[in-house]
Amino acid sequence: MSIRSFHPPVRTLMGPGPSDVHPRILEAMARPTIGHLDPRFIDMMDEMKALLHYAFQTQNELTLPVSAPGSAGMETCFANLVEPGDTVIVCQNGVFGGRMKENVERCGGKVVLVEDEWGMPVDPNKVAEALKAHPETKIVAFVHAETSTGACSDVETLARLAHEHGCLVIVDAVTSLGGSPLKVDEWNVDAIYSGSQKCLSCTPGLSPVSFNQRAVETIQKRTSKVQSWFLDLSLVMNYWGGGTKRAYHHTAPINALYGLHEALVLLQEEGLENAWRRHQNMHAALKAGLEAMGLHFIVPAAARLPQLNAIAIPEGADDIQVRSTLLKRYGLEIGAGLGALAGRIWRIGLMGYSASPKNVLLCLSALEAVLT
Ligand code: PLP
Repeated sequence: MSIRSFHPPVRTLMGPGPSDVHPRILEAMARPTIGHLDPRFIDMMDEMKALLHYAFQTQNELTLPVSAPGSAGMETCFANLVEPGDTVIVCQNGVFGGRMKENVERCGGKVVLVEDEWGMPVDPNKVAEALKAHPETKIVAFVHAETSTGACSDVETLARLAHEHGCLVIVDAVTSLGGSPLKVDEWNVDAIYSGSQKCLSCTPGLSPVSFNQRAVETIQKRTSKVQSWFLDLSLVMNYWGGGTKRAYHHTAPINALYGLHEALVLLQEEGLENAWRRHQNMHAALKAGLEAMGLHFIVPAAARLPQLNAIAIPEGADDIQVRSTLLKRYGLEIGAGLGALAGRIWRIGLMGYSASPKNVLLCLSALEAVLT
């Protein structure tokens, strides 16, 4: 057998994630591996925490990157906060709300599902009704930026509602962090998770999470053990907890963490608000071009995510053929529809380093060439 080194083709990633990885991040990840308890590595972990505080706009002590993809961040929130018998309101307006429901059920919780049409944001009125009908509810969980549809829900309003009923909130910010306004402390978010591969433009495989004091106290008051050893925060914190007493929990993905550190340094250099503005500007440019081609967005303008543009596949266009021609001829990846929207929409991502004028132009000209 003589299998050779793998050299991936050069692509432009404008799907639902991963996004194009910034060259500075790739360069950072190629630096020498050191030990996960090396004092220099521990200094880097402290910096990482400060950078995550900035990205999430929080001072939460319990803020760290879980050593696994966004799904593990999701599972970390549910596994630590939900105990058997707990009632959780899960808002579903796309694929990822459905995964939250699965998580609650696997933790032994009872789900009250609040459904909205795919492509619409979560409706706070429906959540208010569910809270009234289920006063025993402990947690309200929802997705900020639904990657499967491109809809943005109102975190601040939903969190306020949940707190009025004495509940905690769990927020999925996998696609929103770094791309859309997100203010964890100001909006009173109790537990939140994200992913490295979307608007942070890092490689996939890490999931920043943050828990406020109320969430920490809820975890401390648990009467049952967290059923996942790897995701049990009381154990993970022996490593990520800070101070001098860090102990081995698992071997950290050292080079991946160099990458996330660099991604967060880039975000800090650009400035959060500038990053949000850049995503919005690129979305406006893409939208103008798509609409000039006669293409339609499926999400109402007020709830549209700049970083995930979901457009209806025009009549007569062959979904798979268009996407594979874009890939073969232009090296351009756009996303297919997921779940109920499979075959009905394309998802064009403008995430992180991919949210650039060069990419907008490539996408518009390539799509136009393929569609006409
Ligand atoms: N939540 C949302 C909103 C997502 O878009 C994704 C991934 O696309 C996930 C969760 C899961 O993240 P990962 O694929 O990194 O496990």
